[in-house]
Amino acid sequence: MPTYRELIINSGLERFDAQVLLLHVMQKNRAWLIGHDSEAASEDQQAAFAALAARRRAGEPVAYILGSREFYGREFQVSPAVLIPRPDTELLVELAIARAPQAGHIIDLGTGSGCIPITLKLERPDLTVAALDISPAALAVAHSNAATLGAEVRFLQSDWLAAVAGERFDLIVSNPPYIDAADVHLSQGDLRFEPSGALTDGHDGLQHLAHIISAARAQLKPGAWLLLEHGWDQGAACRELLQQAGFSEVQTWRDLGDNDRVSGGRYG
Ligand code: GLN
Repeated sequence: MPTYRELIINSGLERFDAQVLLLHVMQKNRAWLIGHDSEAASEDQQAAFAALAARRRAGEPVAYILGSREFYGREFQVSPAVLIPRPDTELLVELAIARAPQAGHIIDLGTGSGCIPITLKLERPDLTVAALDISPAALAVAHSNAATLGAEVRFLQSDWLAAVAGERFDLIVSNPPYIDAADVHLSQGDLRFEPSGALTDGHDGLQHLAHIISAARAQLKPGAWLLLEHGWDQGAACRELLQQAGFSEVQTWRDLGDNDRVSGGRYG
């Protein structure tokens, strides 16, 4: 019988991925592995681990295999219908938490798993939070996450702001599809398994960002913030779009990897 350590070493996977998959099979946390890795794995455990390891070797993202990913300290259910939450997006959430006015009405566009609005509502219970997505399958995942985590968020199917035309918000946030369709990363690694409609606009990556900046003007209260996540090389373009659209205090913030990641401004 192989030990747990041998299962990990012989899996053909990166050590961290193999550990996470084994712990999922065992329903244990990392502390358990330290004390037990020289024990023998049962046949059932070996078979269950082998099945997950084969999926990972075929390229499937760990988050889809486990069905969940941690974001801002909470566990979110994910499926191939939604983008896997990224640590980079925690910057967008932090900026929104700091800028949303007391008891404000805020909205997230292209919500995917719902990790942004759900986190905002749980961190700032005073806020009234809405979230939109064009994909019914994504909205089903977001609904489920809100129910599991106990967050009151109003979800609507919508092509960007269309479903809430006429409403005005105290803050708009979005992590839209912003990858250039020609970017080679789309055909590499985990991104191959994520919904392409959540990653790229099919053009230069700026189409949805530009649409949101333009459409948001009619739906922000005076002085309200628009905060947008974007690619590491899109900060200057976003600032220019924001300035042309009449936003003030336009600026770009960097993520933990020191890349431009969020740009925003206030309207009116
Ligand atoms: N940050 C993601 C990536 O580069 C892209 C997410 C998005 O397009 N909104 O993999």
